Amino acid sequence: MNEFPKSGVGRTNYLVIGAGIVGLTIARELKRRYPESAVCVIEKEGQVALHSSGRNSGVLHAGFYYPADSLKARFTREGNRAMTRYCESNGLKINKCGKLIVATCEEELSGLEELKRRGDRNGVELIWLTEEEAREIDPNVRTFRKALYSPNTASVDPVEVCRQLKWDNSRSGVEFRFNTRYVRHEDNRVFTDRGVIQCDYVVNAAGLYADKIAHRFGFGKSYTIIPFKGIYLKYAKNKTDVSTHIYPVPNLNNPFLGVHFTKTVDSGIKIGPTAIPALWRENYSGLSRFNAGEFAQILYYEAKLFLTNSFRFRTLAIEELKKYRKSNFVGLSLKMVRQLDAGGFGSFLKPGIRAQLLNKQTLELVQDFVLEGDHRSMHVLNAVSPAFTCSLPFAEYVVEAIAAKRREASQQAVSGRRVDSLKRGVGT
Ligand SMILES: Cc1cc2nc3c(=O)[nH]c(=O)nc-3n(C[C@H](O)[C@H](O)[C@H](O)COP(=O)(O)OP(=O)(O)OC[C@H]3O[C@@H](n4cnc5c(N)ncnc54)[C@H](O)[C@@H]3O)c2cc1C
Repeated sequence: MNEFPKSGVGRTNYLVIGAGIVGLTIARELKRRYPESAVCVIEKEGQVALHSSGRNSGVLHAGFYYPADSLKARFTREGNRAMTRYCESNGLKINKCGKLIVATCEEELSGLEELKRRGDRNGVELIWLTEEEAREIDPNVRTFRKALYSPNTASVDPVEVCRQLKWDNSRSGVEFRFNTRYVRHEDNRVFTDRGVIQCDYVVNAAGLYADKIAHRFGFGKSYTIIPFKGIYLKYAKNKTDVSTHIYPVPNLNNPFLGVHFTKTVDSGIKIGPTAIPALWRENYSGLSRFNAGEFAQILYYEAKLFLTNSFRFRTLAIEELKKYRKSNFVGLSLKMVRQLDAGGFGSFLKPGIRAQLLNKQTLELVQDFVLEGDHRSMHVLNAVSPAFTCSLPFAEYVVEAIAAKRREASQQAVSGRRVDSLKRGVGT
């Protein structure tokens, strides 16, 4: 049982920081695995999913973008199935609209072939289509000769999913403390801006702040987060103008998929997201949530990346900034369809910011999820796309990693005690 007096020190076994999809699914898995243990989630905002988890495309990816040996490849296919089951069994909305990946020219066909190879290696269904066949899926699609079709890509309402997880967690006894920010810790005492919580184990699922918190625990020292903003435009004219997700061939050297058409869960159409370098972590609009310290640090790394042009950051930044111009942004999407009214794009939708990890030594963007920790704390770093899709099996993986670290530590403690008692025995 969690014990939280009105003031003073609260107590729990597992303390999860962050009520995004990653924190919510890990809390759920901890409670499933250890029903007798107390699990508490702290969240600095007043409700779940106010950051990436509620500001994404809502796409359940199928799992063909990622190299076979990555955690992303390992969990996307299973995550897609698990999230589909979760939505269906809880009566949540899901749009199984599928996805077309299209080429605009000859050179991009090799990109499609690489995606097909990755899909085959990852055991993900991807079907080659001619241009005519692609039009049977979506009469408005435009591609150069061939397209790939992913029948298992779908859409959900990410906020609805997170609220359901919160409800499930509360029902099974997980304690939620909203408007409660992790500030620092000393041994097993976590200091929040709302008092102290004593806990046996901390799980850091703090998204855009996961690196900062990990550093305080001595983990993730090689990394820092560089935030990339994704903006979206709603196509308001006619919901039937596009009937499936339509994606371009991405540049597989960076983790972004390019501006695409997303079919939302209610059959709406939006384009985006961009990947514009942001200047502070929660730099959603104007000067809101401005943080001078973050601004200075992020600007330092972005300037370094710009000057060295590591992973072609300079080109990326310039290309992405151009997308703030609506005509450029819309123009990119129009390449993938036969006809669409450019005037039918309405307002910008709420943007999301990716908690993208940068390796400070190599100045490269980290492509895969990163998990670091020990028998006292575990830190989920780089939970970028498709972490929403992966979340259910990924949570099992995290909880297993925690169990392994704790087992290892208790075995070491037992053998340490044996050695001590043997030594004492020898001495007497
Ligand atoms: C533009 C965009 C599009 C995307 N599209 C997709 C997609 O289509 N499909 C997909 O699978 N994935 C997608 N993703 C990725 C997906 O949204 C994220 O991987 C996922 O939401 C990460 O979840 P999280 O719980 O780690 O982070 P978050 O949702 O950011 O949650 C972290 C939480 O921690 C809290 N927190 C931070 N610091 C503290 C502190 N000190 N104390 C207490 N609480 C704290 C924050 O307030 C926040 O609520 C997209 C992401 C973006 C940005």
